[in-house]
Amino acid sequence: MGKVTGFLEIDRRDRRYAPASDRIRHYKEFMIPLSEEATKDQAARCMDCGIPFCHSGCPVNNQIPDWNDLVYHSDWEEASRNLHSTNNFPEFTGRICPAPCEAACTLNIDDSPVTIKTIECAIVDRAWANGWIKPEPADVKTGKKIAVVGSGPAGLACAQQLARAGHEVHVYEKNAKPGGLLRYGIPDFKMEKHVIDRRIVQMQAEGVHFHNGVNVGVDLDAAALLEGFDAIVLSGGAEKPRDLKIPGRELSGVHFAMDFLPQQNRRIGREPIHTNEPILASAMHVVVIGGGDTGSDCIGTAIRQGALSVTQLEIMPRPPDKENKPLTWPNWPLKMRTSSSQEEGAERDFSILTKEFRGENGAVKKLVCVRVDANFKEIPDSAFELRADLVLLAMGFVSPVHEGLLNDLGVAFDPRGNVLADEVSYKTSLAKVFACGDMRRGQSLVVWAIREGRQTAQSVDTFLMGSSQLPR
Ligand SMILES: Cc1cc2nc3c(=O)[nH]c(=O)nc-3n(C[C@H](O)[C@H](O)[C@H](O)COP(=O)(O)OP(=O)(O)OC[C@H]3O[C@@H](n4cnc5c(N)ncnc54)[C@H](O)[C@@H]3O)c2cc1C
Ligand code: SF4
Repeated sequence: MGKVTGFLEIDRRDRRYAPASDRIRHYKEFMIPLSEEATKDQAARCMDCGIPFCHSGCPVNNQIPDWNDLVYHSDWEEASRNLHSTNNFPEFTGRICPAPCEAACTLNIDDSPVTIKTIECAIVDRAWANGWIKPEPADVKTGKKIAVVGSGPAGLACAQQLARAGHEVHVYEKNAKPGGLLRYGIPDFKMEKHVIDRRIVQMQAEGVHFHNGVNVGVDLDAAALLEGFDAIVLSGGAEKPRDLKIPGRELSGVHFAMDFLPQQNRRIGREPIHTNEPILASAMHVVVIGGGDTGSDCIGTAIRQGALSVTQLEIMPRPPDKENKPLTWPNWPLKMRTSSSQEEGAERDFSILTKEFRGENGAVKKLVCVRVDANFKEIPDSAFELRADLVLLAMGFVSPVHEGLLNDLGVAFDPRGNVLADEVSYKTSLAKVFACGDMRRGQSLVVWAIREGRQTAQSVDTFLMGSSQLPR
């Protein structure tokens, strides 16, 4: 424990955002880091509780009190080593993790948890700036070949661990660049893409081979994969979006969020957008249906593109402003949260069911909506119309796409349509085929994908070698 009286003397202080009026003029990150001294002060607030609830709140079980103590004592390099022992990519989580660790922090009983995510980000950003993060190639090669299909955080974490264990790892990615939703879903203003690029360079130096622009099941036969590799890891994400099949769905101007967001990320990354139908919110009244992360990302992007108005509709009731701490702590509570994008100027409405899209000349012009009660029953006489030139459907993802690779392989699915594999072995119904990340657990978080990628690597290594030195 750094400073015994730290949490009594020092108030919680977190990174701030640049003002909304400035940040909506560009697509760059806008989080203002704390100074070195302020970060050390925040680390000093950690009480090193006898039972660090933050460990279990964090899906990769980061050793949070240990690196808080190291930061307080200015041993940033050791803090980085410790952090990387549980998390391959803390610069991703330090930017975009919702930080369930902070909900679990003992100081959160008093609403002032340690700023864990901010300290994590400061450690890894400092490590990159000082050149402490280097490739860690294996000394001994095993001669085993592994294919990883999908280069999101699950596939990347898995590939890095397996390469460090001495295996020859080939990552197949259907997009032009690796990163999965980190690159094509999450907007640059939440995470700039150079942070992915430098990890790819590190992984290449560790011996990972990237095959971009290869859609396995289309460009490369599933059978060839089974024949050519000692093990296969499926980490292709959960890409099938939830649709809203109501009258007017066919009108132009009604799009899935993941048709809209990747276009902007590609523009910024100077990649072709692969369509004759660019989707832009400029000078439009935009309605986003769905209240989660994806919806927020649509809002921030639409506002930056110059939307006239952005309205976000959620079918669930408005959550309480504050959680009932004795009931919820140390778990992640349901409560009203406002994302940085929502802060930038979106109107939000809850308990709204959209019943119809109406248009003119084939293009959407308005939504017909009705208010519902907590059981989703329509409230009489509550119907209303909402103007919309662009509607973005951000209602989550149903499952991985079955057509193509998964059906060709003949892999079994769980009742939700995700690839069936347990959380210990990550083995699918097929010999030598493993699955992890959103493809196995359904739509989730980056930090869960990293955890599953790491644990799958350990299981694959054990399967191939009889035992494994890799951590779980
Ligand atoms: C818009 C959006 C915003 C989000 N924001 C956050 C956030 O702020 N914080 C957070 O923690 N989580 C967020 N999430 C969730 C998070 O991004 C995912 O949980 C995480 O990326 C899942 O990782 P993954 O590696 O399992 O899959 P993905 O990131 O989906 O990667 C799968 C990759 O596999 C590739 N692939 C699929 N099939 C094939 C094939 N047959 N051949 C070759 N390649 C294939 C895909 O192209 C993709 O690149 C967000 C999700 C979305 C959609
Ligand atoms: S990865 Fe997420 S949950 Fe874990 S310490 Fe970092 S911010 Fe917290």
